[in-house]
Amino acid sequence: SKTVGEKAREERELLPIHGYREELLKLIEENQVLVIVGETGSGKTTQIPQYLQEAGYTKRGKIGCTQPRRVAAMSVASRVAQEVGVKLGHEVGYSIRFEDCTSEKTVVKYMTDGMLLRELLTEPKLDSYSVIIIDEAHERTLSTDILFALVKDVAKVRPDLRLIISSATLEAKKFSEYFDSARIYLIPGRRYPVEKLFRKWPEPDYLETVIRTVVQIHQTEPIGDILVFLTGQEEIETVETNLKRRMMDLGTKGSEIIICPIYSNLPTELQAKVFEPARKGSRKVVLATNIAETSLTIDGIKYVIDPGYCKINSYNPRTGMESLLVTPISKASAEQRAGRSGRTGPGKCFRLYNVKDLEPTTIPEIQRANLASVVLTLKSLGIQDVFNFDFMDPPPANALLKALELLYALGALDENGEITKVGERMVEFPVDPMLSKMIVGSEKYKCSKEIITIAAMLSVGNSIFYRPKNKQVLADTARMNFYVGTENVGDHIALLRVYNDWKERNYSTEWCYDNYIQSKSMKRARDIRDQLLGLLNKIGIELTSNPNDLDAIKKAILAGFFPHSAKLQKNGSYRRVKEPQTVYVHPNSGLFGVSPSKWLVYHELVLTTKEYMRHTTEMKPEWLIEIAPHYYELKDIEDTRPKKKQR
Ligand code: ADP
Ligand code: MG
Repeated sequence: SKTVGEKAREERELLPIHGYREELLKLIEENQVLVIVGETGSGKTTQIPQYLQEAGYTKRGKIGCTQPRRVAAMSVASRVAQEVGVKLGHEVGYSIRFEDCTSEKTVVKYMTDGMLLRELLTEPKLDSYSVIIIDEAHERTLSTDILFALVKDVAKVRPDLRLIISSATLEAKKFSEYFDSARIYLIPGRRYPVEKLFRKWPEPDYLETVIRTVVQIHQTEPIGDILVFLTGQEEIETVETNLKRRMMDLGTKGSEIIICPIYSNLPTELQAKVFEPARKGSRKVVLATNIAETSLTIDGIKYVIDPGYCKINSYNPRTGMESLLVTPISKASAEQRAGRSGRTGPGKCFRLYNVKDLEPTTIPEIQRANLASVVLTLKSLGIQDVFNFDFMDPPPANALLKALELLYALGALDENGEITKVGERMVEFPVDPMLSKMIVGSEKYKCSKEIITIAAMLSVGNSIFYRPKNKQVLADTARMNFYVGTENVGDHIALLRVYNDWKERNYSTEWCYDNYIQSKSMKRARDIRDQLLGLLNKIGIELTSNPNDLDAIKKAILAGFFPHSAKLQKNGSYRRVKEPQTVYVHPNSGLFGVSPSKWLVYHELVLTTKEYMRHTTEMKPEWLIEIAPHYYELKDIEDTRPKKKQR
């Protein structure tokens, strides 16, 4: 029988793009910039880099292909390595934040758009590349939009460099215009008709409608896999649990339905499962975020269930507030999602919304994002005037202003808007400016060892503590052990203790299990910490430790996060110090429900039913003046009584 690699190689020739190989190569040779449009699944991402490699482009330099999503970069690289027949990380590799799976040998490199942006900092002309592919350009992520302008400039000074802008939708005209009327090439895809059905159960909860629809398809429709679009890990897990229960209630044999979740934080080993064909006679149900909209092609899908929502980043430049919001998708997205059911035969798409209610396209991220990180990167690249930068769609001017103000307050820019020594050091860290300032700022408080641990733990996200549904009380008790002794000390310090205790037990998995800690997340924190440690060395900050001086640690946290300070109000809620905005301690915080601290610093805000502060720690208001004298004034921290409303 054939090996996986052999099979994968044979499948290459069946892809729609295969018939256009020669024409494509010719066009790439003749045009420095080419815009390629092709249906999802036609083979753009996996095949074009291979064609270029086969045609000899890698003799002159690497082929870089950007992806907006981490999972896509990893998954596609692993597929291509398989097709080429090499070990992942050798000739074919990927690079995502905190994870570099490439080597000296690597000639085909998949990476997140954010990583290429970072590479430009050390390799401004991208000398080690012969071709750059900006893939999934239609997603218009913040990094992709910035890359457009930067690679356009690089192309001008590197006539040998080839640039490919690849997109799944017809926004191509706009890309072409932006790149000085670049040639557009359409790859005709295979597309079967898709029947679109609108349905609405009288259910307040669309997840319940999703489950009912899956059950109904399974009971009444011919065999074929189902793809469900959900907004994130939590929803996916809820649907997975409830669907399994429902299937059992109905007496469905476990073998009949195979549930495959796919989202960004899913462990790598489980990601591959989504691509495996279902066993004969069984039906695969893929529960995906909008990663499956265009980034990943899952074959064999015949039914799509689309509730019509996705999670997007939203930023309010006035208040400096950033949140992930569940929002209705655009018409363009709805079309893409429906199209996923018609790749291998006629399909059916069950829409739980009315398509008439949707906006035509999604607003590019650059127009609804916090720009601090991007502005700092641009400044570090020597781009002084960010207002006149060659944006494809410019961000609101006040968002740029807000970013400049924040960077100035953090000490990353001087009063002329030029990058400072502190700013240059901050840029070395692939994290948000507030977090990098916290790290750089730890030098002064002689606690860099503790601070990089905290930074690593924060970077892992909110998956450190494990809270199984049937053992919540035990899990919560275990968690509170990390807070005892120093009441109100806060989540940052608790995270530090978790890490240090784990380390003391020789990074034991069993210890994690006993304490309701996710060992996978801890291992990831350790990897991230190692990298932060390397960067600390690189910029010459000594590793100093001050484990018993919690005030020093808190001051270092404030050095980066002083804009995130909040003050207790009479009714038990908090108010942001500089903004008229009410926020709450997150129920998962160790500070939730205990006697409240008057002043808090928080890591981030999450919006669910309310604006919650996630990861909070107590602090002293006078530190704000000491640490951020340009940002806070005495009147901000004075103990004023709530003023009577003035007419
Ligand atoms: P496009 O970029 O045009 O949307 P891709 O190159 O990503 O298309 O995908 C082409 C085909 O490659 C898919 O239809 C799928 O069969 C296969 N494929 C891609 N990634 C994987 C993977 N990780 N595992 C298995 N098959 C994959
Ligand atoms: Mg693709």
